[in-house]
This record gives sequence, C-alpha cells and structure tokens, in this order.
Amino acid sequence: MIPPASKKTTHFSCLLCRQERSGATISPVMRDADAPVVQCSTCKLVQIGSIPSALELDTFYDQGKQAGNIGVSVDIDNLWTRQKDDTLRRVNRAATLIPKGSRVLDIGSGYGFFLREMKKKGYKIDGIEVSDLSRAISAKVAKVAVHDIDIATASAGEIAKLGTFKLITMFHCLEHIPDPISFLKRVRTLLTKGGKLLIEVPNIDDAMLDLSDPYRSFYWQFAHCSYFNAKTLSITLRKAGFKHVVASHTQRYGIENMMAWIVAGKPQLGSPSYSTSTTGLKGLEEWYKKDRIKSGKADTLLTVARV
Ligand SMILES: [Zn+2]
Repeated sequence: MIPPASKKTTHFSCLLCRQERSGATISPVMRDADAPVVQCSTCKLVQIGSIPSALELDTFYDQGKQAGNIGVSVDIDNLWTRQKDDTLRRVNRAATLIPKGSRVLDIGSGYGFFLREMKKKGYKIDGIEVSDLSRAISAKVAKVAVHDIDIATASAGEIAKLGTFKLITMFHCLEHIPDPISFLKRVRTLLTKGGKLLIEVPNIDDAMLDLSDPYRSFYWQFAHCSYFNAKTLSITLRKAGFKHVVASHTQRYGIENMMAWIVAGKPQLGSPSYSTSTTGLKGLEEWYKKDRIKSGKADTLLTVARV
C-alpha cells in the first residue's frame, strides 16, 4: 500500500465508515486543488480529505465544459481512435455477463461509444450522462436514449421512470461520486432480480505509484473523491447491499507510457498510449501487462457485483 507523505494524523469524514475517522496524509495537495489525500486507518479507503460540496463540484465541472466548448470542433473519429481499445474490451466483458437482447444501462456514458457498440451487438442500451457537451456528442455517436438525470439527487420517482436493467455499467464514474454508498444503493433499485453491476475504476494498488514520484503527484486530482482497491471497493458494494462481489484487474496503459514516466517524469504523448506500436517491444509489453494483472498492481480495477 502507498506510503504516507507525512506521519501527521488527519481527522476527516470517511466515505466508507461514514463517520469521523483519523488516518495518514497520503498527499498534502492534489494536482489541481489545495486539498489533501488521506487514508482511513480503520477501513483503509484512500479519499479526498474534505469532500467537495455540490456547488464546488458544479463549478469545477463547468470549467471543464467551457474548456471543451472553446476547443476546436469535436472530431468524433479522433475520439474513437483514443477510446476504441477500452470500448471494445468493455463490450466484450459486458457480453459475458448477460444474454443478447438484455436491457443495459451505462451510467456516465460520456461520448457514447460503448452505447453504440452495445447497440450493434443487439443489446437494448440506455445511457445516463450529466455533461451537456458529452450528451450532445453521444447523440451523434450512438442514437440511443441518453438521460440527463443525476442519480445522486434525483427523486425515487424520477429514478424509477428509467425502468429496470439486467446489467448496469459504470466506467470511471464511481471515483467521482461524493457519497458512493448512497449512490450505489440508488443504482441497485434499477437492477432486475439477479441483475449485475460492472464497475471500472483506477486501482490505487497501481505499481506506478511506487515507481514514479511525478506519476504520484499527477495521480491525485480534485474530481476523484475516492481511490479504491479490490478490498475497499468490495466493502463499498456490500455496504450498498450488493452480493457476490468479484474483482479482477486490467492494465490499460502500455510499457512505453510506464517508461516515459520513469525516464522523463511525464506521460507518453503519442496516441494511443495503451499499447506499443514498436514490434520489438510487443513481447515485453505482453509480459508487463500480464505481470501487473497477476500481482493485482495493474492500473485498473474491474468489479462485478449482483443484487
Ligand atoms: Zn474508513
């Protein structure tokens, strides 16, 4: 587990224990905010030391939206090139969990590539996306229903209107949620009997956090409220009423990205950075990714849970 930045003990409201706790300061600041990252000494969850208010989060995400809006016109082909590997891997995983034709809901559906590819495979898919910009792009990409509803604050009636689903997916979404247990309890009401939830989040046991100080400084960001590993995500899901929680890992970023962080102290800028295009490195990269997954120290955590 990641070593603390100082021996100083901090007091904070733990998102998992749901009460005042103490723990070590993992980092005194985040890359984009003057907020500490702390680890609960009881449940071991790593989280932001002071949970941002709804207003702070709105302001933060509005800035992001403006940055997107003033950029050049959105190039969907370019976005697809960047997201293709992740999207197809997620579609293949989802397809192992439910029969063809099932109703699926993707929460935080972003630009809609997962929606489009699931639709192509014959699933009845809906999305939920609170960003206006992402929803506008996904309307062009996927042509399926994408709801503008915030599960964290919507009424039970509004949530129930969505119907029920055999599978709900959340890819790089839960780490942004200020109260993950309450959020997941609401998500659970949207699943059919025996329905499944597939969650993908960054893995806090990522070996790169031990290997590179610049990576470590870059890692902590204001938009992320929680930093899970298999154990803390399992506790979160069980506290929200889920059962049969099964974790696995995947390594998204390739060996060239790892070397860039170690040698140059910054990410690989070439795209895509998920896999090497250098023939002579392919065997080494395959070994690298397998080793990270086997040790539980890959960059990404996947968990499937049932109601
Ligand atoms: Zn705790």
